[in-house]
Amino acid sequence: MSECFQKSKGQLPTPQLIFETGSAGRSGFFWPDNPKTKPEWIPARFLRDDIPGFPELGELEVMRHFTRLSHLNYSIEGQFYPLGSCTMKYNPKINEVVARLTGLSLLHPLAPLPLIQGALELLRGLERMLAEICGMDHVTLQPAAGAQGEMTGLMMVRAYLSARGNPRRKILIPDTAHGTNPASSTLCSYEVVQVPSNDRGIIEAKKVKEVMDEEVAGLMITNPNTFGIFEQDIQAIAEIIHEKGGLIYMDGANLNALMGIAKPGDMGVDLLHMNLHKTFSTPHGGGGPGAGPVGVKGFLQDYLPVPRIIQGAEGYELSEDFPKSVGRVRSFFGNFGILVRAYSYIISLGSDGLEEASRMALLNANYVRSRLKEHYHVPYSEPCLHECVFTDRLQQKHGVHTIDIAKRLLDYGFHPPTIYFPLVVSGAIMIEPTETESPETLDAFIDALISIAREAKESPSLVKSAPHTTPVGRLDETRAARNLILRWNPSKEDGK
Ligand SMILES: *Cc1c(COP(=O)(O)O)cnc(C)c1O
Repeated sequence: MSECFQKSKGQLPTPQLIFETGSAGRSGFFWPDNPKTKPEWIPARFLRDDIPGFPELGELEVMRHFTRLSHLNYSIEGQFYPLGSCTMKYNPKINEVVARLTGLSLLHPLAPLPLIQGALELLRGLERMLAEICGMDHVTLQPAAGAQGEMTGLMMVRAYLSARGNPRRKILIPDTAHGTNPASSTLCSYEVVQVPSNDRGIIEAKKVKEVMDEEVAGLMITNPNTFGIFEQDIQAIAEIIHEKGGLIYMDGANLNALMGIAKPGDMGVDLLHMNLHKTFSTPHGGGGPGAGPVGVKGFLQDYLPVPRIIQGAEGYELSEDFPKSVGRVRSFFGNFGILVRAYSYIISLGSDGLEEASRMALLNANYVRSRLKEHYHVPYSEPCLHECVFTDRLQQKHGVHTIDIAKRLLDYGFHPPTIYFPLVVSGAIMIEPTETESPETLDAFIDALISIAREAKESPSLVKSAPHTTPVGRLDETRAARNLILRWNPSKEDGK
């Protein structure tokens, strides 16, 4: 069993599966010996005398077992997440306090309008603040994630172009894009045309010009892109697209690099989604929930999802009276609790605070990049914005690959960065340190990576067989995902 595991949890007995602990007859709970409390109302066929292999334990043992398991979890409260493309932001506790206010957390989504004026005020306020940050005119808060925002946006593009006579057939997408971009395009019945990035990691206006025609509905562009590099040609690209009647959709997943510094609306972007669970705090990891509001320029507002919050004579109202709308994309008000957290985050930081968050994110990423660039190959010479990409090229000659480096980081106590993405960079290692990390944390992480680069040279087999200190060693990841073995049987190698 793992060294570090035993070291840090030394006060507890050697970790075992719960099935291997306890003893017959031990219990944390006793039925009162009273016939009235016997569960006679449960039909006999559902009752059993025995559950084979069921552990019998006292309450304290059960509690310690689950507390110990909870410590095996990796969490943003406990450790550093360098996951690129994910913006693993810290979620300030004030957001949680606000989201738990009973007036908000217990609000029924079907409550009558006069009782939800405060909530509607909050949602309207959030719409306006997000619009301001992105340089857009209107925002819908309905979509439940970035991917659903993309789909909502493309539905609006289709509706807008259809109203003008032709929805068109194709969407242009750079080869650096996140997989959700082509997926959303396909869902909206568009054919994807890939635009290659150049040796500086960005797409050039002339490449866009080559593929732009009157059958192209628009371009989906991520800015800064998934290398963390600013798409410097964006304005020229927008002109080329607009000239032929197409629209610019921006994937705003990387907005953490831009807040208070630059507005997509000023770059020629017609519509974009934001990932509140990336840029505007909100816990993520563990799969959600999130929120992917979409901002649009004025000429697209008729197509926004309904119902929309409007100002009526007696306060806020919900209106479905937008005949060109693409309809509803999410029940009720979207993921309300997430919207509350984003509202709280923006209000508590203020515009200066948001800008500082972005500037610190850029500083942290460039710090990591400059300290690591002698130890790991950097595919692009441009300075990065909020994230940076390395590859395993220098380690490959020792037989060490990106996956080995990621696994070895676990031994140093760090969550690995995003690996093998973006797909266009072979062996990519993509690091996004986020703005809230201290120099000490960044240095510890960088030192671990430098040390691994040295190990790759001096003892490659150590790196290739990592991790060595985790409860579970190197897994065949495909088999582990498809053939889950949850019982550890010390007599068999399999479950280890
Ligand atoms: C995360 C991400 C998405 C998808 O957003 P979800 O909220 O996970 O659906 C799309 N594009 C980029 C660049 C991303 O990083």
